[in-house]
Amino acid sequence: MSVDPARLADAKTRLRAAGEAVFALDAASGLRDVRAAHTRLRDACDRLHALTDPPPPPRPPAAAPTGCARHPAGPVDPDPETGWGDCLLCNTARRRANPARRPEGLTR
Ligand SMILES: [Zn+2]
Repeated sequence: MSVDPARLADAKTRLRAAGEAVFALDAASGLRDVRAAHTRLRDACDRLHALTDPPPPPRPPAAAPTGCARHPAGPVDPDPETGWGDCLLCNTARRRANPARRPEGLTR
């Protein structure tokens, strides 16, 4: 796995700036200057370390509108029977298998 070049360049730029802030400290520097340099250095190190993080996991697929494992992207039944799912393909197969629930026009 290779390193993201843009993130590496960002980390290097921040490390260089943080190093300069550290080396600019002297006996006349105040505690605030030391803390600011430390904060910049820590931030740069955190960004450098973040390059080793595993890539984020792939996003889970959007919730299937049909709620059906076989036809997650299939058409949605506008009028499902009570207790049935919202998958028009599965519900059509159920209606075909059960003549009592077969609407007019559905012959097979
Ligand atoms: Zn289905």
